Amino acid sequence: HYWADLFIIEVLDPETLEPVPDGEVGEMVVTSLRKEAVPLLRYRTHDLTRIIPGACACGLAMPRHDRILGRSDDMIIYRGVNIYPGQIMDVIGEFPELGGEYQVELTRDARGLDHLTLTVERAGGATAGGDAALAGTLAGRLRSRILARMDVKVADYGSLPRTFSKSKRVLDKRYADAN
Ligand SMILES: [Zn+2]
Repeated sequence: HYWADLFIIEVLDPETLEPVPDGEVGEMVVTSLRKEAVPLLRYRTHDLTRIIPGACACGLAMPRHDRILGRSDDMIIYRGVNIYPGQIMDVIGEFPELGGEYQVELTRDARGLDHLTLTVERAGGATAGGDAALAGTLAGRLRSRILARMDVKVADYGSLPRTFSKSKRVLDKRYADAN
């Protein structure tokens, strides 16, 4: 819950700056109503969250926003859909057979159509036997949750580079290819 009498929280598409529907992820933009010394006026936090629709079971009438789901700077625009690495990570996390490392590669083909290849590591100790089925199940779940069609590959544990930066997990080769 947040105190709607103290703050206006807007959730906007970081690209168009238009509001997204309740329940959809966007950038949190904050206006403070009661701070006089350091007021915030439609301050762009670059943090991603969503308004949780509907009434809360606790009975409090104040609106709710979700936890911070990532940074808007990490957003990928792919075939007209805004994708955040945190959304991909959430879906990967539902599969115990997969580890936490992944890489996204974006390319553009000769017809100008974008392709997204997601490579995910197997969990340590998991065997390669079920890779094809696992990749298919993961691709299906990503498509229903993020509304984007991705090519999914399962790779050996330890084969992807380790990084602390989310943005390093995204290789966007779409514009390089066009030159
Ligand atoms: Zn509540």
